[in-house]
Amino acid sequence: MDRRNFLKGASMLSLGALAACNNEKAAAPAVAAEVNNPDKNFGIQIYSLGNELYAGNLADNFKRLHDMGFKYMELAGYDVNTNKVGGVDFTEFKKMATDAGLAIPSSHVNAPALFSGVAGRESRDGSDGQFNRSMIDKVAESFKKVAEDHAKQGIEYVIHPMLAYLNNEDDVKGFAEMLNKSGEVFKAAGIKFGFHNHNMEFARMVKGEAGFRLPTVLTPLTAADGPMIMDLLMDNTDPSSVCFEMDLYWTVMGQQDPVVWLKNRANRIEMLHVKDFVVLGESGAMNFKNIFNQFYANGKKYMYAEIEDIDSGKQFERMEASMKFITSQPYVK
Ligand code: MG
Repeated sequence: MDRRNFLKGASMLSLGALAACNNEKAAAPAVAAEVNNPDKNFGIQIYSLGNELYAGNLADNFKRLHDMGFKYMELAGYDVNTNKVGGVDFTEFKKMATDAGLAIPSSHVNAPALFSGVAGRESRDGSDGQFNRSMIDKVAESFKKVAEDHAKQGIEYVIHPMLAYLNNEDDVKGFAEMLNKSGEVFKAAGIKFGFHNHNMEFARMVKGEAGFRLPTVLTPLTAADGPMIMDLLMDNTDPSSVCFEMDLYWTVMGQQDPVVWLKNRANRIEMLHVKDFVVLGESGAMNFKNIFNQFYANGKKYMYAEIEDIDSGKQFERMEASMKFITSQPYVK
């Protein structure tokens, strides 16, 4: 299956359905001049900023994020071959973040033996990522250097951001086994390991069909149609070795209600990617209040603002507008 086309097609269908109910294009919100409420505990997935993060002075850009109200960040762009993040020495990167008042609880890293690119945009354009069971041990082995580098920087979580190319239910179970073995590697280094979803994890293996099918508004699927990838991943991974980071936007794109998942899998979903169609809060399509309330009720804390489209040239501006929204919501702690 061509995953990129699969994802693209699914998103466009869902966005089309949304656009039908929202003909009015929202104007870009004003940029926050200062933080509304500095007590809110919120983080950023730095993938959202694309190359803008590295334009000019990185230390100043970190301070700008802190001034927006961010308390912590999740990395993307770590390179196992160089131990650099976005081309910056990991130790130096961490020091600049710390100096700016930004903690780094987690980092996105695709398995080096599975994807050729580093975590973030490069891996999305990679042509590999095809999974087979013979790779399980090799993948876990390839994570040892990742675990070592991240342990040195005191990073609490490493998250695998992408599903491999999978063909059938046995592949899904094999991928879950790969997560388990990789989780053991991280556990030995004192790091928690997890998996981050897109929409295709909510596809089901429909009886009589090859591959996977994602539900749409017009063609919902139920358990009677066949098992869902996400359920298989959660049911076949060891909770002591593998947690999950739920991307709210991609969950909705998969025609799922994040609140239901947070209730049913309270002990598995450790962190959130808080994302809207573009600027947080702008579409009105994401029920952040109910989602956050359930997340807090589950006793979890790390929430990362994320923006998917990273080529706008307006990433900082959009993040500032997003944080203005987040920090003004009374339900955000
Ligand atoms: Mg995400």
